[in-house]
Amino acid sequence: MIHKLTRIPNEPQTIATLGSHSALQILKGAKDEGFNTLLICEEKRLALYKRFKFIDEIFTIKNFNEFLTNKCQKRLLKANSIIIPHGTMIAYLTYQDIENIPAPVFGNKWILRWESDRQLKQKLMTESRLITPKMIKSKNDIDKLCIVKLHGAAGGQGYFLAWNKESFEDNAKKLFNQKRIKSEDDLFIQEYIMGVPTYLQFFYSPVNKEIEFLGADIRYESDVDSIGRIPARQQLSVDIEPSYKVVGNIPLVLRESLLEGVYSMSERFVEASVHLVPPGMTGPFCLEGVYDREGVFITFEFSARIVAGTNLYVSGSPYSELIFDKPMSMGRRIAHEIKIANEKGLLNTVLT
Ligand code: AMP
Repeated sequence: MIHKLTRIPNEPQTIATLGSHSALQILKGAKDEGFNTLLICEEKRLALYKRFKFIDEIFTIKNFNEFLTNKCQKRLLKANSIIIPHGTMIAYLTYQDIENIPAPVFGNKWILRWESDRQLKQKLMTESRLITPKMIKSKNDIDKLCIVKLHGAAGGQGYFLAWNKESFEDNAKKLFNQKRIKSEDDLFIQEYIMGVPTYLQFFYSPVNKEIEFLGADIRYESDVDSIGRIPARQQLSVDIEPSYKVVGNIPLVLRESLLEGVYSMSERFVEASVHLVPPGMTGPFCLEGVYDREGVFITFEFSARIVAGTNLYVSGSPYSELIFDKPMSMGRRIAHEIKIANEKGLLNTVLT
């Protein structure tokens, strides 16, 4: 598909984002690279963000949807801004909304659609020759431990485990009663992979045509990760159904022998994205999966933008240290790319 070209600013001055997710890291990095910073912020979060001196201007809105109003968009354009999309932006705005934002967006905004849509997501992972968990088409086919997910669920909320048709139906009924789903069709079933859930953070630079592996993390999820604190007898006596709501992130350094595989997965991903959704994966992205007992990475998701796990590495990570001689967070890496692209007259390769 050929997409409309975005208006490329003559001289990008401001880096802007929405106040949530990884906004602090993004704007701190932008300031460190010499940009002005603009935060679009909900009124209720103003007190928090006012604490940080690297934010030059805060434009307040009542709720995230007001980001799309003319008034807000005019402010962004007037400041000659480049918008950095993140997880909250794609959770609260539709991908069509993001595609229609008049100000330039860092990275490939067309790929965000592929992150939101389960089928497109699977297509890109398959084309990238990533190993993915088996999808179970019908509840009648559940014959081993499975994880059941809601379409578009934010941060693992509402996921549950099922091991047969009955356990699937029991939990689906609970979600239905809580008005979280309209029918069982709102759920999809995936083989449960035992191992270490791992989030691999990358940056692809179209300017120097290189992939950088910048960090890894584990998510700490409530309450599945705290179940081990309760002895088995109590676990069995209270009927616990774990949830997977992300609360925070824990740093992870991989065995060095895994790194070759890490790079080759990310290279295949970038390559496939160039064919399927031009101009391809640009800037930050994350491959999300489980290392099983053989050390094989099974990818269950990807994020085609900065992930919150990168907030761990505001002053650089064990991997960014190997590439850069200054502290390089993912937020700063984005600003650095914009700066270099602008100097080389290549802004059109990093913005859409
Ligand atoms: P997600 O929202 O897809 O990132 O998943 C939230 C959490 O669910 C992950 O951090 C994992 O703990 C878990 N999870 C998701 N898919 C699988 C899977 N196929 N096997 C095992 N755990 C999974």
